[in-house]
Amino acid sequence: MRVEENVRLAERTTFGMGGLCRQLLIPETEEELLQAVRANPEARLLAGGSNVIISDEKEFPCVISLLHFNRELTALGEGRFLAGASLRNQPLIKKVNEAGYGGIEYLWTVPGTVGGAIFMNAGTGRDAGKSIGQHVERVRWFDGTEIRELSAAECGFAYRTSVFQERRGVILSAVLRFPEQRREDSERLIRERKERVERLQDHSAKTCGTFCRASDPRVMKLLKIWPGPRRGVYFSRKTHNWLLNDGSGKFAQVRGCIARVRRLHRLLGKTVSLEVELWE
Ligand SMILES: Cc1cc2nc3c(=O)[nH]c(=O)nc-3n(C[C@H](O)[C@H](O)[C@H](O)COP(=O)(O)OP(=O)(O)OC[C@H]3O[C@@H](n4cnc5c(N)ncnc54)[C@H](O)[C@@H]3O)c2cc1C
Repeated sequence: MRVEENVRLAERTTFGMGGLCRQLLIPETEEELLQAVRANPEARLLAGGSNVIISDEKEFPCVISLLHFNRELTALGEGRFLAGASLRNQPLIKKVNEAGYGGIEYLWTVPGTVGGAIFMNAGTGRDAGKSIGQHVERVRWFDGTEIRELSAAECGFAYRTSVFQERRGVILSAVLRFPEQRREDSERLIRERKERVERLQDHSAKTCGTFCRASDPRVMKLLKIWPGPRRGVYFSRKTHNWLLNDGSGKFAQVRGCIARVRRLHRLLGKTVSLEVELWE
């Protein structure tokens, strides 16, 4: 197992924020991962780092990277694939498409791993209603003591939600099932997704993607046009519900944004919940 010391977590997240991690454990096999989790039950788990905002005011004694322990994809036949949790979304889609199957091209622009996607039930917006959970047949999951197999129903998938968010443990791999899809259709769907993202998403600074899971569109619109300079941490003027960091942002500013979001929702009597995960 590789071990890196005094790592700046800002460099391991797409939002570009995060304090020092004293020990970053990087298991390169499933066996090493189980050993690392057993020995460090309090350690935080970090995969692609695309859905977390990490405090720059804190030091983290131990973080386990989930990026390397299993990047395998094995075809099981008839559109079923065994995918390691460390595998990135893009190689997953590419290989599934090459085999003549498809259906999750909307994840092409999601900069995370299979494990992170299952944890979040990553997918399209609510209107299109597509998510990786719809392709999950079963998940191999380590609860800290033993490895368990969960059926799709036991995973509790709902909009950007899964049972894994409520329980401590690690997703090791999953059997995913896809319908047949012609190569040219897969290529078209990826192209359309990329064009859509270019048109709608703000990539002018570092980001963690959609900020709130549930929010009032009027409040988020207000934050989009909120006056003041766009420096440090701020809401995008281009993309709805999208927080940016120009690289100089501080966690105190993230807290300020959250307080503003909550205050405005409270004033209107609306509920709000965050989609990004805060490490503080
Ligand atoms: C530019 C951009 C666009 C995005 N677009 C979308 C989108 O279209 N749809 C969407 O749903 N999301 C989107 N996201 C959000 C994010 O990419 C997804 O939620 C992604 O699935 C997170 O995966 P990750 O590997 O980066 O997880 P991380 O951010 O590293 O981790 C997130 C959480 O998952 C946990 N986790 C990760 N892997 C495992 C595992 N193997 N076992 C147990 N827990 C695990 C971590 O501990 C952490 O709690 C976007 C983000 C960005 C920056």
